[in-house]
Amino acid sequence: MSTSFYFECLDHQPSITSDEISQHDDHHVQAAIRMATGADPIPDDPYEVLQGFELEAAVFLRQHPDCPLVLIDEYGNRRLIPGRGEDKARAAVERAIAFQEAQQGRFEEKAADADRRAAAMKALLGLPEMTP
Ligand SMILES: [Zn+2]
Repeated sequence: MSTSFYFECLDHQPSITSDEISQHDDHHVQAAIRMATGADPIPDDPYEVLQGFELEAAVFLRQHPDCPLVLIDEYGNRRLIPGRGEDKARAAVERAIAFQEAQQGRFEEKAADADRRAAAMKALLGLPEMTP
């Protein structure tokens, strides 16, 4: 099973997501992280020397040289990247999680509302309760 991975730059509102930098948590992700942390250099002209996922990662890193970044997968799971504005990234991740939870809360409220309306309707119509 594959999972798409991306860089997400948190220095923009809304945040900016890279093109796909891997389809697995594998050596492509590791190579991208090494460039993001400065462990490996980002080529001056990535198009000259890189291709595929490494090229996508390098091009994005060139466009966001000093921005706080996280690694994000297609399910919205985020990972901090050492030395890439972790404090700011952590705050942004916490905001994103709080936002998702608020959305989920609203969804559950609506579902509860629908249940209450259905119960009120059944009471009004004198229908028997559904039994499983
Ligand atoms: Zn940026």
